[in-house]
Amino acid sequence: MLTSRQQHCLRGIGIRHRPRSRAAVEAAREPLPSGSEAIDLALKQIEKLPAKGAKPLESREEESPAQPGLDPPQNLSLENWDEINRSIQQCTACELARNCSQKVPGVGDRQADLMIIGEGPGHDEDIQGEPFVGRSGQLLDKMLAAIGIDRDQVFITNIVKCRPPNNRDPKQQEAQQCRAFLEAQIGRVKPRVILSVGRVSAQSLLDTKQPVGKLIKQMHQLPGTDIPLKVTYHPAYLLRTPSAKAIVWQDLKQLHQILNR
Ligand code: SF4
Repeated sequence: MLTSRQQHCLRGIGIRHRPRSRAAVEAAREPLPSGSEAIDLALKQIEKLPAKGAKPLESREEESPAQPGLDPPQNLSLENWDEINRSIQQCTACELARNCSQKVPGVGDRQADLMIIGEGPGHDEDIQGEPFVGRSGQLLDKMLAAIGIDRDQVFITNIVKCRPPNNRDPKQQEAQQCRAFLEAQIGRVKPRVILSVGRVSAQSLLDTKQPVGKLIKQMHQLPGTDIPLKVTYHPAYLLRTPSAKAIVWQDLKQLHQILNR
C-alpha cells in the first residue's frame, strides 16, 4: 500500500495508483493451476451451450484482411466518457452504421488494469449492445476467471463499434475510421496491459499483416505508447480449435504475471 505522499508524487508525474480490491488481491495470490485444465473445463462447459447467430464467428480467423482506408470521423470531441459514448452513438462515418442494430461501445471498469480488445460485435453483441457475449464471451469470462479476474474488473471493447454484416471481418478502412474512439477509450482507461484477441484485432492494433500465430509468440507494445500488449487467439477460434488451449493458457499466465508485478 502506498502512502498518501507517495500517491501524491505519482499523480504529480501523471501516474495513477489504483488500490486493488481485497477480492482481486486475494485472487491474484491464488496459485494458478499447473496446466491448461482451467481452459479444458471452460471449453467443456461452453461446448454444452447452443450456438446462435448467422455465420459462425469461428470462421473469422481464416478470412482475408481487408483494404486500405479513409479518414477517421471528423470534428470529434472525445474529452470524457459521455462525449466518447455520444460520439459513437451518433457516428455514421462508415457503412457499418447502416446495418447494425445498435452501437456497441464497450463495457467494464473504466479504470481497469486490463483492457481487452476484440475485432467487432457479432450477432449476439449486436442484439445485446455489449461486447463478448454469447459462447465466445462466456469462454472469455471463464478464461479470465482462471487467472482470478472477474469480467467487471476489465474494460472490454472492439476495434469497430458496429457489427459488420454477416459477421465479416471489419475492413481496414472501417477500423481506421473507428480508431479515434478506441484511442480515446484507451486514453481514458490507461490500462496497465492490453489483451488483443484474434487476428483482426492484433493486426489492426499493431499495424501489421503478420499472422496471429507469429504475433502470439512475443510481447508487444501498443504503438505510440508504453502499454504492453499481449496477443492471443479469439475465444471463438479456441472453441473451434481446442488444441490451441495450451497456447492460450500460456498467454493468460503471462497476463497474470504482468498484472501482479
Ligand atoms: Fe462509426 Fe465506428 Fe460504427 Fe464505423 S464502426 S459507423 S466509425 S462507430
